[in-house]
This record gives sequence, C-alpha cells and structure tokens, in this order.
Amino acid sequence: RYDVLIAGGGHAGAQAALLLRQRGFAGTIAIVGDEIDPPYERPPLSKDYLAGDKSFDRILIRPVPFWSDRDIDLRLGCRITAVDADQRTVTLQDGNVIGYGTLIWATGGAARRLTCAGHDLKGVHAVRNRADVDRMVAELPGVTRVAVIGGGYIGLEAAAVLTKFGKQVVLLETQDRVLARVAGEALSRFYEAEHRARGVGIRLSTTVACIDGRDGAASAVRLASGETLPCDMVIAGIGIVPAIDPLVAAGAAADNGVIVDAHCRTSLPGVYAIGDCAAHPNPYADGATIRLESVQNANDQATVVARDITGAPAPYDAVPWFWSNQYDLKLQTVGLSAGFDRAILRGDPATRSFSVAYLRDGRIVAFDCVNAVKDYVQGRALVQGRATVDLDRLADPAVPLKMLAA
Ligand code: FAD
Repeated sequence: RYDVLIAGGGHAGAQAALLLRQRGFAGTIAIVGDEIDPPYERPPLSKDYLAGDKSFDRILIRPVPFWSDRDIDLRLGCRITAVDADQRTVTLQDGNVIGYGTLIWATGGAARRLTCAGHDLKGVHAVRNRADVDRMVAELPGVTRVAVIGGGYIGLEAAAVLTKFGKQVVLLETQDRVLARVAGEALSRFYEAEHRARGVGIRLSTTVACIDGRDGAASAVRLASGETLPCDMVIAGIGIVPAIDPLVAAGAAADNGVIVDAHCRTSLPGVYAIGDCAAHPNPYADGATIRLESVQNANDQATVVARDITGAPAPYDAVPWFWSNQYDLKLQTVGLSAGFDRAILRGDPATRSFSVAYLRDGRIVAFDCVNAVKDYVQGRALVQGRATVDLDRLADPAVPLKMLAA
C-alpha cells in the first residue's frame, strides 16, 4: 500500500510526485506507469527527438537516480486495468493488487488510431510515446514518401522534421485549413504557406478512405475522392482518446475525460485526475469544462493536487500556454482562443515575426505569437486581466503590449 499512488508516469504524474516531495510530503509514493521508460518529456517526440537532435537521456524529466533519491517508487511497465475506489486498490495487468490512500489519475491519452482499412499495416504510425517514434525512426532510411494525416500541431511538426530529412511529405487535413481546431485563419494560412514553400504537399478538405498495402506494408493512401497517393509511411496525428476506462468502470463521472472540480478531485473519494485526461472547469474558458493537452496544464494541475494533499488547497487558475516549433518558427500561445469573435493581426506575417490577438466580447483572451517572444511575454498580463484595449494600438506592432495594460 502506498499513501499516494500515481497512475501514469508522464508530465502530470511525474510532476505531482516531485512536487509532493518538494512540499515536504513524507508518506510513501509510487508512480505506476505502463511505459518502460522513466518519466520523459513528450513534446520533443515530434521535434528534436524525432529529428535526432536530442538523445533520450536529454528528454528525461529528471535523471534516473532522482526518483529513488526522493523515495519515489517507479513501477514501470505496469498497466492499471481496474480501480476499486471503496477498497482503495488498483489492479495491474499481471493481476497484482496495490492499495492506496490517495490515487492521482494521470494517464494522459492514447493516440487516436485510424479505423479505416489498412490502419494496421506496417508503416502506419502514431506519435504519442517514445516507442512510436523509435519505430518510425527505424523505418525512415527506407522511406521516400510520407503521408501525414491530420493538420494539427503534431502532424505539422512531424511534417517539418521529415521534410528537413529530405522526405517527400504530403499532409492531409479534413478541414479547410490546418490548425482549424486551435487557431484563427491568419495563423492557419501562414503555416500552410510555410509548409508549402518547403515542399510539403498540403491537401485540405480531404478525407482518407483507406490505406493500401503491398506485402503487408503501407504503399498508398486512398482518398474518398478515389485519388491514390503513393507513400511508404503514414503518420496519423489525429488526436487522443483519454485513457480513463478503469476509472470510469470504477464509477468516476466522465465525459470526454474524467470530470474534476477546481481542485482536480474526481467524483470518487480519494481520487484526483490531472493532465490530458482531466475534464476540468477552466477560468480561461469562462468556467466551461474542458480538457487541455499541454505541458502547462499537466504541471499546473499537478501543483493543484500537491497543494490539496499537503493541506494548502488553491483552485486551478493557471494561465494556459503552449508552444510549437516548426522549421525556424517558434510559435508561443498564451490564453485560449476557442470561441473568439475577433482576431487582430499585429505585424506582417511576411516578416515571419508577428502575432495574433484574439478577443471575445471586447476582451483579450489569447495571443498566438510567431517568432515574437516579447508579445508572448507581455501579452500574458492582458490575457490574465481579460483586458479591454484600444484596438488600433493593439494592431500596431510598434506599440509594446505592456503599454496597453490598464
Ligand atoms: P502523458 O504525458 O501522456 O502521460 C501519461 C502516462 O500514463 C503515459 O506514460 C501512459 O502510457 C500512461 N498510462 C496510460 N494509461 C495507463 C494505465 N492504465 N496504467 C498505467 N499507465 C498508464 N504540449 C505542449 O505544451 N507543447 C508542445 O509542444 C507539445 N508537443 C507535443 C508533441 C507530441 C508528439 C505529443 C504526443 C504531445 C505534445 N504535447 C505538447 C502535449 C503534452 O505532451 C501533453 O499534454 C502531456 O504529456 C500531458 O501529460 P500527462 O501526464 O497528462 O499525460
């Protein structure tokens, strides 16, 4: 039995464990994770790690000895298949049962898989964990043409790296622009143009019908239109499915994620949920219940839980932020643009350094900043204060954002 058992050794789980120790928690702690690797950073998987610019050691969240030095048991390669919230136990895939005082559910999500014919052919990949990327990298030497399915951040980042490797990349998106779910039109069109300029074939409003194979390996993507695009590798970046089945079976309230309150408490006694799998009320979404898939959210929810467990509760109120690296473009996002009713461009995308301000009901809710660190840093206060500002000055990149704060 552990005083605190953490399900999942990703960003949220690792951070919760280390923050508990930082805050002086003296009870027993275990992280039970189904990957065999100690906690590591996931964002480099579609960036520097895929590119071969960072070795695995350099993306570890902490050096390996850190965990035992802090008396945090890492039980790796262990999948939790069931939770008994009355008995306060979890059952592992091998049948072992472990008791807990408090359970922190931090299991993230599984990559959403293609379901069309051919989805299980060799050469069809997702990008969620180290094993996915290692498999992909091992195949790359024999690959000339890659089809990336999904024009979200992960698909675009993978396309950028593979293009740099000299692969011929085509990116297929069902919507009429890339990044449609997360950004406004100006940002979408900018990234579309950047990728096209480097030779990525971007196909919008396109539906994949199936993957064709030859000798058990992917050989082409067939579109709903009947067109066939030959390729040797398919990468699906089509989102995640929250990994919450054991908790839902135990009776936790859930709806596209485990539902938690502002302290990340689930409906089950003694059970918290944090990170990608937690559907939480977010002040930056007007209190709506949402899931956020970001390192910021994983880390800040870990803080909320560590505080709650150590007797210093404080509700989740962190400003959302996110980043994406593609080619030499560093995108930084602060706030949540979803539901914006006005977008204002600051600067000229042609200079490859600009930002987009998003407003809702006249108030600033987010910034997307491309190679514009100053706007990102200074825009934060405006997002935090839901500021109302002079729109002409907002549109003028010569006016620093800090001058707009009330
Ligand atoms: P995870 O990090 O996914 O960790 C969950 C862990 O739990 C996993 O190891 C999983 O295998 C394990 N697990 C699942 N089910 C069980 C079970 N039943 N039993 C035991 N263990 C289980 N975010 C950013 O902010 N910026 C970025 O640039 C960015 N880039 C990304 C690029 C890629 C390729 C990916 C995949 C994600 C990226 N993200 C980025 C998102 C970010 O990595 C996630 O939001 C973050 O990892 C969430 O942390 P988590 O702990 O909730 O989940």
